[in-house]
Amino acid sequence: MDSTFAKSESRISNIETNPNFKCLKCLKCLKSSNGSFLKFDIGPFEIISKLDIHISILLVFLLTPSAFAAKAPQDYTYDIVIRDAVVFDGKSLTGVREDVAINKDRIVFIGQLPKSKAFKIIRGKGLTLAPGFIDAHTHSDFNPLVYPKLANKIAQGVTTEIIGNCGMSAAPVIGTHRDKIRSVWAREGVQIPATLPWTTFREYRETLQDKGLSTNLAGLVGHGNLRSAVMGYDPRPASPSELEAMKKLLAQAMEDGAYGISFGLVYLPGVYADHEEVIELCHEAARHLGVCSFHMRSEGAKLLESIQEVIDVGAKAKARIQISHLKAGGKGNWGKIDEAFKLIEDARERGVRVEADVYPYSSGYAELGKILPDELYLRSDRNDYFHSLIRRAELVETMRVYDEKKQFNWDSTMIAATASPHYQRYEGMTLKMAAKKSNLEPVKFLIDILADTQFEVSAFYFSQTDEVVEKVVGKPYVSAGSDSIADGTRRPHPRAFGTFPKIIREYVREKKVITLGEAIRKMTSLPAEHFGLKDRGRIEVGAYADLVLFDAGNLKDESTYEDPTKRCKGIQCVLVNGHPVFENGKLPSKKHGRFLTNS
Ligand SMILES: [Zn+2]
Repeated sequence: MDSTFAKSESRISNIETNPNFKCLKCLKCLKSSNGSFLKFDIGPFEIISKLDIHISILLVFLLTPSAFAAKAPQDYTYDIVIRDAVVFDGKSLTGVREDVAINKDRIVFIGQLPKSKAFKIIRGKGLTLAPGFIDAHTHSDFNPLVYPKLANKIAQGVTTEIIGNCGMSAAPVIGTHRDKIRSVWAREGVQIPATLPWTTFREYRETLQDKGLSTNLAGLVGHGNLRSAVMGYDPRPASPSELEAMKKLLAQAMEDGAYGISFGLVYLPGVYADHEEVIELCHEAARHLGVCSFHMRSEGAKLLESIQEVIDVGAKAKARIQISHLKAGGKGNWGKIDEAFKLIEDARERGVRVEADVYPYSSGYAELGKILPDELYLRSDRNDYFHSLIRRAELVETMRVYDEKKQFNWDSTMIAATASPHYQRYEGMTLKMAAKKSNLEPVKFLIDILADTQFEVSAFYFSQTDEVVEKVVGKPYVSAGSDSIADGTRRPHPRAFGTFPKIIREYVREKKVITLGEAIRKMTSLPAEHFGLKDRGRIEVGAYADLVLFDAGNLKDESTYEDPTKRCKGIQCVLVNGHPVFENGKLPSKKHGRFLTNS
């Protein structure tokens, strides 16, 4: 590295050649993560490496005190300038070559800055600058606690994640839910702490903020948390007083900073909620300006009825509706996607504020147990029920009959991960392959693996076609949402590491379904406006400096089903709240994400 103190901008190397150059405006980063030392008080653009430290100490002593104090960070016009990138502001469909200047956590200037003094210059020539991507649908609620070093989102350019989806959030945790929450998340592959030091949403938010966040988080309140707090897992409609109690808990969480409510109407206990309960809770969320996000009752056989249900809820409760992971699952249902679009578009024309999100993969990820008929899958005693060896013969017979009716394609379900060492050899195999390897018929293998692992096995379900996914990605009211969960486990879904670059590689560059500007809009301003993320998702003066600088021509997802945690290529730099947090593939130890609040 060139250790000479540079005095002009022409001497400043870009971040490719000077990876040690870190943001110093908080004055806490004097020592960077790789052990190199950085100077801030001699000139605008100096850096010194570990090898230079002896020379620099000598120079510091040789300088007069007045010279030493002459250039404190506050003397610079800007903390950071990103120069010469093609800037997509998140809203416009085309980019403009401009400089973007940042002070503290905000964007303060956009335009041409030929001779400005900045504490740090990031060269953007040949690169695209966009607002930091917003992951509109995640299950990262416990990630800062259980995978604190994981950087799968930052490395894709994501700076904000919507958490608390599908009816399950980390807070509030009250009543029966305190005992259930561990098993709710364990069945999805996330092992949460044995005791949670929070009860309310506010306590949860403060705990996570204290722990440190890589990305900004904006939280929804899980309907399952509210219902189980008030009435456990009772399979019945809520009474008026129980509904009032749920509304009260929701209102409290909204006042504590939540952005809305999420429903998981296929999961326990959300499955027991009737239409009136859903409307009443959405009305309460809307009263607090919250959004209502839905894992609908069906994404296959009853897709259209389910979409109509959430549209009706939106109209009656006057609420903003987000359809989570919009899809048409199952061979017989692929053709329904066009009718689904029509329902949504007609509703939007009538003024119902309904939008959706999509993960750009034809497979989903869920418990393997979901393949069972509901009467078996939803049994609260299913672990014990399946454990009995005598009963297994009965269960196999039941599944044979069910298979005849459903005509399973055993090749379309792949075992993702299991905690059982005995069954780990089957990870990455379809049920057909795994059954063949164990010399069993598929139904027998299925019952055995579920019983022996106590249902702790996850699967990839290849339930859609690429054409259906492509159509959904192309719709202008559909945001990008990874639906990532259990990101830090051995074999998560590749979407946890690849969603955002995949959209740009596959749907912008290769298939040309959408333009780059449209892709960026779907990843930034579209979800920011729908979820109410103030001053995020845009590059404009006054907005938060959440930014991603990337090589749009070469951005590429690398995560696959075989190697799902491989990081993408092409992300050059990511800033969160004005701090560079990712440069040249290196992540600093400091975290600058915030737990956002709806106020
Ligand atoms: Zn879901």
